[in-house]
Amino acid sequence: MNRLNKTFRILTFTLAASDTLSANGAFFGDPPDDHHPWAVHDQNRPLPPVVTPAAKLGQPPSDAIVLFDGTEASFHENWRHNRPADKREQNWIVIEGALQSMRGAGDLSSLAELGDCQLHIEWRAPTEIVGQGQGRGNSGVFFMGDMVEVQVLDNYENPTYADGTAGAVYGLMPPAANALRPSSEWQSYDIIFRRPIVREGVILDPGSLTVLQNGVVVQDNTPLEGGGGYKTRKPLDRIFPELGALMLQDHGNPVRFRNIWYRPLRPRALDGGSDGRLSKESTLAKRSEIAAELRQHARSLEAQEKVLRLLESLKYEEDADTRAEADDLIELYVAKLKKIAPHEMEVEKSQVLSLDEALQYMHRYRLIQDDYPMRTFFNDFAIEHGWKKAK
Ligand code: MG
Repeated sequence: MNRLNKTFRILTFTLAASDTLSANGAFFGDPPDDHHPWAVHDQNRPLPPVVTPAAKLGQPPSDAIVLFDGTEASFHENWRHNRPADKREQNWIVIEGALQSMRGAGDLSSLAELGDCQLHIEWRAPTEIVGQGQGRGNSGVFFMGDMVEVQVLDNYENPTYADGTAGAVYGLMPPAANALRPSSEWQSYDIIFRRPIVREGVILDPGSLTVLQNGVVVQDNTPLEGGGGYKTRKPLDRIFPELGALMLQDHGNPVRFRNIWYRPLRPRALDGGSDGRLSKESTLAKRSEIAAELRQHARSLEAQEKVLRLLESLKYEEDADTRAEADDLIELYVAKLKKIAPHEMEVEKSQVLSLDEALQYMHRYRLIQDDYPMRTFFNDFAIEHGWKKAK
């Protein structure tokens, strides 16, 4: 109820701030259908959460989960070595505000488990340029443990195979461009990761990666299939988990990382989300939920306000009791109108027009019958009193 109350407060404010009587909002845009639980411009649709962007692009916005902020503390709080202590030659280190891969340390995993997310990460190849091809400044940003790698490589003026260059979905898709800065400079990745969704052997969504390398789009909604690997193309026959660690690779080169943060993405429609084109089943479930909230809210209202809320609920879900209750209240109001002296009628103008607007809308979208008598009554009544022009 709190969320709805807030919506209604906004609605009331909109009404008060507007001069036009048709700014009700409840009977306005195309109504819900089989795949959209809300009407167009629906005032009952929850407003997006407020996020305060960082003062500087690339820094974490207010809702980001920071995995590394340059401090020893954030390294120890958020990361673990994959390789057991007795099997590693050394550990990753924090140096000059960056996290550095060390030869023989093995891969590093976040303690946080990430699902679909927006990830920001910056990296820098060793300033001393050593090696060539895949041997120069090689590391990687892996999602879901080791399932998919976005390649990290110093291939600035260092050719190697295309699907192994920086920004490649390794082994699967080369980046659309090589937007690397020179070897000694920091590079940034902004990555949008959507995991594949496979249920009961059916690929519902192959998943995708979108990658911006130094602000340049290098992967654009690239389907993941099963991910790639060294010399291998993996079919999408593995079950991807809903959540998994972010992994940084030790490929033997002292690559540095900094400013690592992510934001979970809103769920896709087929993943339980309510935005996007929903299945008919999910749409009807959501419409039913919205209608129930509106009927509940109607209980706290009286007279015409109550009628309007009840009628509004019918946009989302048919309900015989609600319709009967609205009809009764409308009939009571009509009886009241008939007793009002003509010189006192002006105060009823906005109520009459609101009901007229609602009923005309419902008629337009076949939510009431053609011969519903009250629609004609309010239309004629409004015209008679000069509140509405005859069409
Ligand atoms: Mg790599």
